[in-house]
Order: sequence, then C-alpha cells, then structure tokens
Amino acid sequence: MAGKVYLVGAGPGDPELLTLKALRVLRTADVVLHDELVGPEILSLVSPTAQVQNVGKRCGRKSATQAEINALLVNYGLLDLRVVRLKGGDPLIFGRGGEEIEALRKANLDVEVIPGVTAALGAAAAAQIPLTHRGLSSSLIFITNHHASASDTGDWPASISPTATVVVYMPGYAYAATARQLVAAGLKASTPCAIISQATRPEERVYKTIVEDLHSAPRLPAPTLLVVGEVVRLAERRSLQEQFSTRSTIEEFLPLAQSESFAQSQGITEISERPE
Ligand code: SAH
Repeated sequence: MAGKVYLVGAGPGDPELLTLKALRVLRTADVVLHDELVGPEILSLVSPTAQVQNVGKRCGRKSATQAEINALLVNYGLLDLRVVRLKGGDPLIFGRGGEEIEALRKANLDVEVIPGVTAALGAAAAAQIPLTHRGLSSSLIFITNHHASASDTGDWPASISPTATVVVYMPGYAYAATARQLVAAGLKASTPCAIISQATRPEERVYKTIVEDLHSAPRLPAPTLLVVGEVVRLAERRSLQEQFSTRSTIEEFLPLAQSESFAQSQGITEISERPE
C-alpha cells in the first residue's frame, strides 16, 4: 500500500504560527523534506524517529532540483511512509507546491495540503499594516520580483491600482529597479512602502519609506518582503529611541547616510534571496 504525502505550510517563522494540524503531522511523520526557510525551532517539533532532509535552495549552495524533490516525494510515498513536505509560509504560494502535487497525482499517491500563514500575513502583522482598509485599499496583489534587475521586467503587472496593496515576495535588493517598475505600473512616487525582514522571528525588522526613496533603503537580512500601498501609512509608528531598543523596529524616512550606518551597525551584509 502506498503512503501519503502532506504538503505542509510552516508559516513565516514563529513556531506558534504553525497550525495544530501541521504540528500533528510533524509529530507523526516518517520523513520530512523541508526548505531552507524552515527554522530549527519548527524542526525540533518533528518526531525524533523521522528522517529529516533539507532540500532548500539558498545563497548559491548546491541543493536538490525541483525534479529531484518531486522524485524523492514520489519514492518515499511509494514506500508506504508518512511523508511531509514542509515549506515556509503556505505551500501553495510561491512555493512550487503545485508542481509537487502534479507529480504525486501522476504517481497515484494520496496528497493532503495543510495551509500555512503566508509571509505576507506574517509581515503585515509584524508591522501592523492592514493589508486591506476601508477607503485606502480594496485589493491585494501578491507578486514575486525574483527577476528584478535594471533590464528585466519580470512578471510585473502592466498597471497597479492606487487602491491596491502590493506585496512583493523575494524582492531582492535591486530597489531602484523595483521602484521604477512600481511607478511604471502607475503608482505615485510618494506611495509609502515597507521592507519587512525576518517577519515573526526574533530578529524581525521593519524599514518604512516611500517608493521614490526606496533606492536608498538598507539591505536588511533575508528573508524580506516589500509591502507597497497607502495602507503602509498605518504601520505602527515608534520613536527612534524605541526603534533601537525593541526587537521589532521601524526606521522611518532615514536619510541614506543614516540608513547605511544603521545597516553597518547591525552587521547587515548582502544576503541574496533565491526563489524556491
Ligand atoms: N511559500 C512562502 C513563500 C516562499 S517564497 C510563503 O507563503 O510565505 C520565499 C519568499 O517569501 C522570501 O524570499 C521572502 O520574500 C518571503 N518570506 C518568507 N518568510 C519570510 C519572513 N519571515 N519575513 C519576510 N519575508 C519572508
């Protein structure tokens, strides 16, 4: 008899944001294949007898290809094992979960998807940004920017409504190019935006600015998300003193020199974010 494969969302980082269902399958799994985004606190919840394998892709390190991951899932599934494919956030948002489901269906394996809190929701909660708000934002766009460069327009929509909130996954650090794309899509240069780094983790940090000044934003440690839209005005505001003394910080409209020295003081270096 064939086993079952669970595609499980691990949420954005805070282990308390796991669903009870995710926790139950992690505790009873035979095999767990996880991404780089899944932290040690969550992996410590996995059954001690389970085989745990990191198949993540990060910072150029050699990792399993998607075809290899699909093959692993199918092979373990055919061995009558309880297999968990554990992904950061939600497995069906920029996580290539759809491709894995297809491969498993082809092999006639039973698949169950357990949703997770996607990074956009974790980041919005971290910065207290309402993603929709009466009178300010009536739609929500999730996009990925992993093609961002000065010349590549990636998958950007041709036009973005000023009443939309845009959440950019894998925003990278080509902020000037990203700002150009946003303006080309019709957003005002004065539209507020926030970079949220390591949302829901102890190192969480929020940098608030406007599209026009995005180019001078510091390179906060990955993973980061970019949230753009009028609703970002409603993000939690704190005094500068509080910003540096609490775990979650909002640096608002810092001039470039100040942001650079902030980045240096925090030991921020270039950390690349790679698509799943
Ligand atoms: N399936 C995931 C997204 C995978 S793509 C989800 O639903 O959240 C990976 C991207 O997600 C990262 O490059 C980053 O943009 C974003 N991300 C994931 N976790 C994050 C976190 N804790 N804080 C900020 N961004 C995060």
